[in-house]
Amino acid sequence: MAELLLVNGQLHAQDARYSEATAVAIRGRRIRWVGNDEEIHASAGPDARVIDLEGRLVLPGLTDAHFHFYEWALGLRRFPMANVDSLEDLQRRLAQRAQETPLGEWILGQGWNESRWAEPRLPTVAVLDEVAPHHPVIVWRNDLHLAVANSRAMQEAGITAGMVNPSQGIIDRDDAGRPTGILRELAINLVTDVIPQPTEEEITEAMQEGFGILHQLGVTGVHDYRVMGGADGPPAFRAYQRLHAAGELALRVWMQIPGERLDEAVALGLRTGMGDDRLRVGHVKMFADGGQGARTAWMLEPYEYTGECGMPITPMDEISRAVERADGAGLAVAIHAIGDRANRELIGVFERTLESRRAARSAPPAAPHRMEHVQMIRPDDVSRLAQLDVVASVQPIHCPDDIPMVESSVGSRARFAYPFRDLQEAGAKMAFGSDCPVADPNPILGIHAAITRRTGDGTPPGGWYPEQRLTAAEAVWGFTMGGAQATARDGHQGSITPGKLADLVVLDRDILALEQTAPMEIAQAKVVMTVFDGRIVHER
Ligand SMILES: [Zn+2]
Repeated sequence: MAELLLVNGQLHAQDARYSEATAVAIRGRRIRWVGNDEEIHASAGPDARVIDLEGRLVLPGLTDAHFHFYEWALGLRRFPMANVDSLEDLQRRLAQRAQETPLGEWILGQGWNESRWAEPRLPTVAVLDEVAPHHPVIVWRNDLHLAVANSRAMQEAGITAGMVNPSQGIIDRDDAGRPTGILRELAINLVTDVIPQPTEEEITEAMQEGFGILHQLGVTGVHDYRVMGGADGPPAFRAYQRLHAAGELALRVWMQIPGERLDEAVALGLRTGMGDDRLRVGHVKMFADGGQGARTAWMLEPYEYTGECGMPITPMDEISRAVERADGAGLAVAIHAIGDRANRELIGVFERTLESRRAARSAPPAAPHRMEHVQMIRPDDVSRLAQLDVVASVQPIHCPDDIPMVESSVGSRARFAYPFRDLQEAGAKMAFGSDCPVADPNPILGIHAAITRRTGDGTPPGGWYPEQRLTAAEAVWGFTMGGAQATARDGHQGSITPGKLADLVVLDRDILALEQTAPMEIAQAKVVMTVFDGRIVHER
């Protein structure tokens, strides 16, 4: 007998058998029954709670397929910098923060993005020293791939003019060879390695705060990535396991493994998919190239102005060997690819890997391989990708956010950026995410971006390359079944189907109808109820 009944709703079940359904019955952790209001009461137990949804739209629980949960959750307790709007503003706020922070204690800031400022200049050591000379300070750009340290922080990290760049990292220097404070990619770890680690208690509290925020946004699952690899991996993984053992892990976490741990994962015999419905070992994450903003994405043709094409972060033959090795060991891979060259090369790697797997008749990993971002991809490569059992993990919210950056860096080739409609038509498997904290974790904003290709304030009118827009139903699919397919959990998640895990979201308005009448209003939609694992975890 069911324990929780939701009635008088409008179910977007994503299951053709239940397209007209208005009610769902839940028992324990699973959906037991789906149908209409008249029939459902027969399945109710005597003590069942019945909730009248007053005609509201019900979606399957939302999964964010690219999230940096640990970094984001810890960042909630750091010095918030997302609203900093100029270098002067940054200094003003940092001076204030320094005043409130005991001398000598670390100041960790996160979330600024100079490309949104009227004068887009990166902060430097001098800028930070001027207002906070007595604290070690490091401030991360919102993408977490670049951070700026002050003198005290560099001193503690032992960063000097004579120091050589670490592998996969750059210490920016001025004309005289002195470090500018700007640290790129893995050079950031030089500093993070000397910051006192948060205690287990602090991590637990930050994560629980994070679960609460995500439940308010209708998110019931994340595919969690480490940003800078090794250092943050173990504390995050330990915290998930600790919370899970205590019955307090309130998200379905698909835990990605940093690429530099591939050898250890293979040696240990870890395989993708190990775990249970709350916590599983996921994909091994690697990087084919950098980002377009930093002009480090690997392009087929030169960037406007620089005349250069960017570069691979990891040589392609090395990636190719790593993919082959992971594939043979039952580990699926997730590879970051932004530029059209990186995407083309990577598709080639997957074609060869899947071909040699077929030839060897060996078993595939338990989930498909995936490509992260797939930001610029040529039409020929879209169809090649669609032929493969490889997932395109994309972040629609980046599309409107990135318009000025993409147009200035690649000009008219911007038409090959975020080609969601082309990917959809070609039959590519897509999973949607936010890349939070690079972008806002609210999936409704991602859905809105995929449908309109406009920012929240409506630019550009008509949408950016509007022929690449998706429908509301397709966008919802990307945030539900998309993530489920990417982890081969689509038999258990992603639709409102009897037997599946009871993860559901109720919205305050019908975004499927708004698509026709007032698409800009979709961004305002709020979650009125979230059910996770059969339990109501958010209600308002
Ligand atoms: Zn990311």
